[in-house]
Amino acid sequence: MKNITTSPADKNTVDTPPVDEAVDRQWADLLSPARRQLMRDTGLAVGAFALAGLAGPVLAADAKAPTGIPDAGKNFAEPPHKPGESPWGYDTYKQPTPRPAGVRPGESRLPAKPRAYTDIKSYHAHIYFDEDSYEKAALIRRWSAERFLVELGDWNTEPRGPHTTPSFYFGFTTDLFPKVVPWLQLNSLGLTILIHPNTVDPRADHLYYALWVNRSQPVNAFDWPTLEQRKELTVEQIYPNTKPHVELET
Ligand code: ZN
Repeated sequence: MKNITTSPADKNTVDTPPVDEAVDRQWADLLSPARRQLMRDTGLAVGAFALAGLAGPVLAADAKAPTGIPDAGKNFAEPPHKPGESPWGYDTYKQPTPRPAGVRPGESRLPAKPRAYTDIKSYHAHIYFDEDSYEKAALIRRWSAERFLVELGDWNTEPRGPHTTPSFYFGFTTDLFPKVVPWLQLNSLGLTILIHPNTVDPRADHLYYALWVNRSQPVNAFDWPTLEQRKELTVEQIYPNTKPHVELET
């Protein structure tokens, strides 16, 4: 897929309310791939003592790897313990209430101004189906291609990318939004449809800027870089490939 480069998203922020980013980062790191690997490697309850004292990576790295633990590997978050005793000890009720991580690490400050809707360069509609509903998906696919000039992708009969069930997608330009979205609302045939914009931030496009037709379902963006982590700010381009020949019903 070819990309185009655009100007970086606006990052002007104001400094209120005060946020302890170090604490935010510690919590976010708890779920990072490196952190999870560390927990697997050590078999220690890194999360447990992080909860108790917001211990950072240094403490975790200093922790000794247990040996000879019968259940090692069964539950990587379970600390070593004697048989018949709680692996968490008997003082968990004394733990202070923790401050959870920001859902969007590094984006916890309030923006100084709204984002421009023109940051959206196009949209994707991902239509999800399974072995019982594939015929509905096929009908939506055919009807869509007959009526709209869109970029119609392949069938994905297995989970692919952030999409956790079989799917197909079509991309469409912003000018088609007022027709495609209501059309999908009325012609979903009950299937779950994710409609996401394409901006310089694909992770946020899927997780935070999405529209859903019918119910939502999990989207796996686990290892996707945040906007701050992206090296190049590009927007996915779409190239319409259908030959619509049926007049849209009105
Ligand atoms: Zn997409």
